[in-house]
Amino acid sequence: EAKRDPGTSYRFYDRQLHISAGYQLRLEADLRNALRGRELEVYYQPRIDLATEEVRGVECLLRWNHPQRGLVGPDEFIPVAERSGLIVPIGYWVIEQACQRLKESAELGFPGLVFAVNLSFRQFHDRKMTETIFRIIFNANVDTSLLELELTESAMMHDPEYAQRCLRELNQLGISFALDDFGTGFSSLSNLQHLPISLVKIDKSFVEELGQSADAEHIIRAIISLSHSLQMSVVAEGVESEGQLEFLRQQHCDEVQGYYYARPMPWNELVQFLNSRSQAACLQK
Ligand code: C2E
Ligand code: MG
Ligand code: MG
Ligand code: MG
Repeated sequence: EAKRDPGTSYRFYDRQLHISAGYQLRLEADLRNALRGRELEVYYQPRIDLATEEVRGVECLLRWNHPQRGLVGPDEFIPVAERSGLIVPIGYWVIEQACQRLKESAELGFPGLVFAVNLSFRQFHDRKMTETIFRIIFNANVDTSLLELELTESAMMHDPEYAQRCLRELNQLGISFALDDFGTGFSSLSNLQHLPISLVKIDKSFVEELGQSADAEHIIRAIISLSHSLQMSVVAEGVESEGQLEFLRQQHCDEVQGYYYARPMPWNELVQFLNSRSQAACLQK
């Protein structure tokens, strides 16, 4: 089940071992060490504005360089981090990294790049969440309007009053919010309309089905038109082909993220990617 490309592929933990409690404990101990031992790394995946073809921002995606197992993807270890509570310190570490890179990107000549960070259910419900995020952005002294937090419907709908209070507090500091994996949780946008959400990310399972299922087309069209009528922008995730891109462009989707343009990559590669695109843009003018 290993993925194709060596840059983003990760060896999957043996499925059979998943059920063993001892194995879970070992993974948890390994993960605790990983946070201390600099084995965790943030990869960055560009998000492209369809109208201008410019890189609007990047999503920060965790990777674990495990000394024996190689590169491990988040789908493998985030559930363990979530169960053990380790996701809380790990999640704050990702926000700190994002803030550092945000400052660096401006120094490198890419001001205005948005940095999106995923927040898990458990981290969102950490009692010290707003306070801790406030401290991180205050210490880093960054332009908070370039920070975006991605949350899923289930994280927000679990306790709507709590979500409303937290999102408003953080939104007042300048942070914006995206609704991640939209369409998979079956909640309706109308439930969320009182929350300060500026962006909807269409789950890649719908994009994947474009061209194969008329339903996927209808759903994507509906999500885009409803989001726009509620003044929210739309990002489509998992765009891999020209055909998908063309459909999304016709539907006035605002941004796309996917292997078609770029895979998640280490920071140094992202800097090269940004440089080569801005050179190409200069040559065109
Ligand atoms: P997500 O937030 O929905 O992130 C998008 C996922 O889609 C990423 O998987 C990305 O690599 C993948 N992707 C992007 N374009 C394509 C494409 O064209 N085709 C395909 N097949 N996949 C594409 P990744 O990096 O494995 O992350 C999986 C999930 O792990 C994320 O889903 C997010 O929910 C979670 N995650 C990642 N980093 C963090 C983190 O720092 N904190 C928390 N709490 N969760 C994280
Ligand atoms: Mg996300
Ligand atoms: Mg997503
Ligand atoms: Mg996802």
